Amino acid sequence: MADIEVGNYGVFDDAISTGNNLNSSLTDYQSSIESNQNKLLDASVFQGPIADNCNEALTDLKTKISNIISNITTINQNLSAFKTSYLNADLDAGKIIIGEDGKITIPKIPANMKASASGFLIPFTNDVAYKVTSVFGKRRPPCEGASSDHKGIDIVAPGGTPIHAVCGGKVLSAGELGGYGNCVTVQMDDGRIVYYGHCSKVTVKKGDVIKAGDVVGKVGHTGVASGDHLHLEIRKVDSKGHKTWYNPQSSEYLGNSMPGKYKV
Ligand SMILES: [Zn+2]
Repeated sequence: MADIEVGNYGVFDDAISTGNNLNSSLTDYQSSIESNQNKLLDASVFQGPIADNCNEALTDLKTKISNIISNITTINQNLSAFKTSYLNADLDAGKIIIGEDGKITIPKIPANMKASASGFLIPFTNDVAYKVTSVFGKRRPPCEGASSDHKGIDIVAPGGTPIHAVCGGKVLSAGELGGYGNCVTVQMDDGRIVYYGHCSKVTVKKGDVIKAGDVVGKVGHTGVASGDHLHLEIRKVDSKGHKTWYNPQSSEYLGNSMPGKYKV
């Protein structure tokens, strides 16, 4: 599995370091006030009510600076605790891995998933028994109402199996969509749209921004379907409304990385 090296949780370290620098400057400033204040107190010509007021104001200023230093110290302690808790949570979720050399890495794909050579995720976790049963293109319709020109691929998996997004994008729709039954459509950055059809349940909503691997729904047989399966389709709609379909099993997408039939 290819990993991206991130080095450390830099954002926390940077903030903590900024706080420490600020506190160091404030401490210097405080010492400088103190030293000038002492000079004033020692000066025999500077006496009386004005001198007292000035002295009081300087003492007050030193107290305020002390309070700021103390607040920054507290913020730094909180940042440090946040860093630890984020780190632990990400470790638990398998989102980051700490190597033997202490190097922290973030896997490109979730630990229990597989990606094709082009980086698209297989929509099911490794423990799921799934199989491609119908490929892209001309076919004999598997049931009444099904198309003889298959616009996507069918992947059979047990009903209720979570369906993971093959890539990130923005959810355009999630719910009833004619023959697709409960369907989630996700627009990729390049404008192409991925369809996840026949879901028993959708688990995202329109407008959600998702990343590869997020669960979008569960396998079902809603709409025109002869049994539980995921209909995975990739299409593009141009500005004039013309549609182009892409084979999800082409090398640009999932390739032949899933068990079952494939035709590229
Ligand atoms: Zn299909």
